Amino acid sequence: MKIRVSRFDPDRDSAPRTQELDVPGVEEGESVLGVLQRIRESLDSTLAFRFGCRFKGCGLCTVQIDGRPLPACMIHAKEGMQVGPLESFPVLRDLVVDRRPLAERFARQKLWLSPREHEKLATTFETPPASGALAKCTECLACVASCRSFDLGNESFGGPLAFVKLAQLHFDPRDDRDRRAEAKSLGVTTCLACQKRCACPLGVPIYRTAIEPLL
Ligand code: SF4
Ligand code: SF4
Repeated sequence: MKIRVSRFDPDRDSAPRTQELDVPGVEEGESVLGVLQRIRESLDSTLAFRFGCRFKGCGLCTVQIDGRPLPACMIHAKEGMQVGPLESFPVLRDLVVDRRPLAERFARQKLWLSPREHEKLATTFETPPASGALAKCTECLACVASCRSFDLGNESFGGPLAFVKLAQLHFDPRDDRDRRAEAKSLGVTTCLACQKRCACPLGVPIYRTAIEPLL
């Protein structure tokens, strides 16, 4: 199978370049991640890419596949496909992007559970149906890379994953912060003009279950 892969070595290259590869032994229905692993094993052991579980569970293998941000373990490889690093993030090497700036931003925005003071934390409680849908998020970053309003250097707009996290907290009865107000300060109303209903490869209905409840 012939594929084109974006390569970038910060020690040698001033800009990314495209490498064409003819990968032997690819089987019908094999995933893009499987093909990247074949390249490392049989053609070029220096190809850098990130993965964890290989089965849709960890969100680490997301790359641009023919221009769309998608987890490489979920997509069938096809002849002539182009694979590149996630857009909107700095490239560390080849297909590996730097996720730290976003993690640091989320830390500054305190996107974690803030339990009610002086209350014993409940261990069992009823959650609305939206929580189940939101729990499917693996933080794969595909929605972030597809949002045209998101800019890693501009913290005034949170972006789809921040809104998913804020909605998870908004629906959590143990959380004591006003997550709708926080979402508004992070520009959730920008989404009213877009209403793209951000596509999530894992099936999280981002606009309906995260953005709309925060508006
Ligand atoms: S909402 Fe979906 S696309 Fe966005 S980070 Fe979570 S799993 Fe990925
Ligand atoms: S609805 Fe909002 S988060 Fe989704 S793509 Fe549009 S601007 Fe981005």
